[in-house]
Amino acid sequence: MFYFKSISEFQKAFSTENKCEKFLIKQRWSDGKIRCPYCNSLKNCKTNEKRYKCGECKVSFTLKVGTIFEGSKISLVNWFLAIYFLTSNSKGISSLQLAEKLSVTQKTAWFMLQRLRFLTENNFNNDTFKGTVEVDETYVGSKEENKHKHKKFTKQKDIVIGIVNRETKTVKSQKVASSKYYDLAEQIMNNV
Ligand SMILES: [Zn+2]
Repeated sequence: MFYFKSISEFQKAFSTENKCEKFLIKQRWSDGKIRCPYCNSLKNCKTNEKRYKCGECKVSFTLKVGTIFEGSKISLVNWFLAIYFLTSNSKGISSLQLAEKLSVTQKTAWFMLQRLRFLTENNFNNDTFKGTVEVDETYVGSKEENKHKHKKFTKQKDIVIGIVNRETKTVKSQKVASSKYYDLAEQIMNNV
């Protein structure tokens, strides 16, 4: 997991599409080798600025395919910033606020928040992990908070655990009730 002291520190680290792509590659495949999202082949070459072509199944793809960023023209710079705003703001962020911060339409901002919330609320891979896994927890502002704005002192956040399979380089995330041992252990037992 990564922590940034300030937005300027964050923006420096992810100032260009290239920097974001490098980070995304490292997050998806810890050996840094790009795999085809369709056949998992390591044989591929870059065909232009954004696209890769698989040497095995010959399909062309971008790094967004197979991630929550798929199917959007939104830059990774904006996606990453949205994640920053969503996770650094304990009160959560509305689509209106996000649209203003990213200079995008409210419709785009709403779409982005839907995708990001899907990530924190769903476990989209039901296969259990075998072998060496890493587990970490993080705290994510939830939309529940937006519904209870009158509760001024509510600072509760969703707790999300991420489980990474070192062998297959796949990642699962799951919302948990608390960071207490039994709640984490239950999820780990269910997934590993
Ligand atoms: Zn392929």
